[in-house]
Amino acid sequence: MVSLPKHILVTGGAGFLGTHLCERLLDQGHEVICLDNFYTGSRRNIHHLESHPRFEVMRHDVTFPVYVEVDEIFNLACPASPVHYQRHPVQTVKTSVHGAINVLGLAKRVGAKIFQASTSEIYGDPEVHPQQEDYWGNTNPIGLRSCYDEGKRCAETLFFDYHRQYGLDIRVARIFNTFGPRMHPHDGRVVSNFILQALRNEPITIYGDGEQTRSFCYVDDLVEGFLRLMACDEANGQPVNLGNPVEITIREMAETVIEQTGSSSELSFKPLPSDDPVRRRPDITRAQNLLDWQPQTTWEDGLAKTISYFDAMLKDGWWGMVE
Ligand code: NAD
Ligand code: UDP
Ligand code: UDP
Repeated sequence: MVSLPKHILVTGGAGFLGTHLCERLLDQGHEVICLDNFYTGSRRNIHHLESHPRFEVMRHDVTFPVYVEVDEIFNLACPASPVHYQRHPVQTVKTSVHGAINVLGLAKRVGAKIFQASTSEIYGDPEVHPQQEDYWGNTNPIGLRSCYDEGKRCAETLFFDYHRQYGLDIRVARIFNTFGPRMHPHDGRVVSNFILQALRNEPITIYGDGEQTRSFCYVDDLVEGFLRLMACDEANGQPVNLGNPVEITIREMAETVIEQTGSSSELSFKPLPSDDPVRRRPDITRAQNLLDWQPQTTWEDGLAKTISYFDAMLKDGWWGMVE
């Protein structure tokens, strides 16, 4: 049993989820090393943490070996939105696969417990609904999303093989769509796009007919799930879905954003991108049973907080500075 403070490595720590996680770990009294190559993450995201005495930033690309002495590792490094992960697809695969090999090699050497930020995308365009962890998925190995989906699937394979072959203590979270403050403003995701468009009174771009569904989890709930999962020994060696099971259509999201911002934006229908899943909703029974976890924030309340964040960002005038 490791006593406090633990030394914890968070790869991708300057990204959207990573900064919230680093914050919570510091609040719990741990020493945190935030490793990031700042591909999609930003110094601005961690600016408020940089003077913290237990916080250290390490500029590094996880596709190269990393030597640090830590008790726990959260592996979050990977661009998460299609616009970012498709810009350099080969680097995306390397980040998932070589990155996983390096952090697993590190965990093996130092005997650290290790957490993988996997994704609902490993289920692809699912044929069963909602998705339980024992569903193997329906992915396209050669499509535009494959660098992400298949990279993450291979990373899971590596985690489970290191677990079976070397006895590593692993946690694998399959994260469903998450949103909140510090999302990348130009990540092309539905929540950030719609809020940005609404705040500027521009047309809201709905891809397809807007009847496709997603479920949106607020970031604070998700990070609580990460911490519970990492602390749960019973979850060693079994993937756990983390997300909000409340399923809504994209059209409903658009209408709610317009309502909450009081925007004069109108709906504008655009072609659906290829491989865009039709339905997605987590079955979180395992998380409920193992972790006693479920989202506490409704997507509408989370949306209001996210709108406030983007509104302040826009008014501060640093909107255009982030790419
Ligand atoms: P993000 O893009 O904001 O954060 C990813 C971070 O990883 C960034 O700070 C980026 O600079 C860093 N990074 C990328 N490649 C790297 C590399 N080679 N070496 C070091 N750092 C690198 O994305 P996020 O939303 O915070 O996602 C974090 C993790 O959670 C990702 O692994 C993502 O796949 C997973 N995830 C996120 C969601 C979501 O809805 N946000 C859903 C499913 C899975
Ligand atoms: N590795 C690392 N940090 C460490 C230990 C290993 O980055 O502290 C990397 C190492 O470069 C190797 C990878 O992790 O490429 C996998 O390590 P492992 O020991 O499993 O494999 P091996 O070194 O035997 O190929
Ligand atoms: N979407 C949309 N308009 C946008 C951005 C996204 O209609 O401006 C749709 C997208 O086609 C998908 C859904 O919203 O069906 C969620 O997209 P996002 O990229 O946020 O997440 P993912 O597809 O990875 O679940």
